[in-house]
Amino acid sequence: MKMSSMMPDVQEVLIPSDEIQAKLRELGTRITTDYRGEKPLLIGILRGAIVVMGDLMRNIDLQCEIDFMDISSYGSGTSSSGVVRILKDLEEDITGRRVLIVEDIIDTGLTLSYLLRSLQARKPASLEICSLLSKPSRRRVDLDVKYLGFEVPDEFVVGYGLDYAGAYRNLPDICILKPEVFGGA
Ligand code: 5GP
Repeated sequence: MKMSSMMPDVQEVLIPSDEIQAKLRELGTRITTDYRGEKPLLIGILRGAIVVMGDLMRNIDLQCEIDFMDISSYGSGTSSSGVVRILKDLEEDITGRRVLIVEDIIDTGLTLSYLLRSLQARKPASLEICSLLSKPSRRRVDLDVKYLGFEVPDEFVVGYGLDYAGAYRNLPDICILKPEVFGGA
């Protein structure tokens, strides 16, 4: 495959695209088995999760539906307060539905735990989490992530949907950027 023109900004490829695809096939197979005979609703959290959603759903051999939410975290600077504002709510009513949240990365877990409480109040039949990445060393709340792709160290990663200042989401691999890329911002 042609090398991305963004590669000069990359210090290290942490998870190459073929490993991501293999993991999503594995997760898709598990989800297909667990939801057999049902029509789950996959909820992607904008914007990072759209790439995972696109590849994951094609590995789920069921009639499933998708919906999206856009949220923003209140709080100062880099620390997530865990109080989120819903910028775009779901189109679907989730009452009685089997719902699977699709995330790109779980860091402190505060955003997702707030979102879980808010969605639980709408009385879905079930509510589970699928996340491509998790940074366990940063976790501040206990979350049961039923479908997890990879654990990553406490490094800021980009690619495969994850951005830095809006860019790098379209890199096919999960990467760590060179420090000078941040310095120039
Ligand atoms: P949490 O509430 O779990 O701390 O926040 C999770 C959100 O922080 C993710 O959905 C993502 O938007 C952002 N985030 C956390 N770690 C990273 C990272 O390494 N890279 C990028 N691009 N975003 C991250």
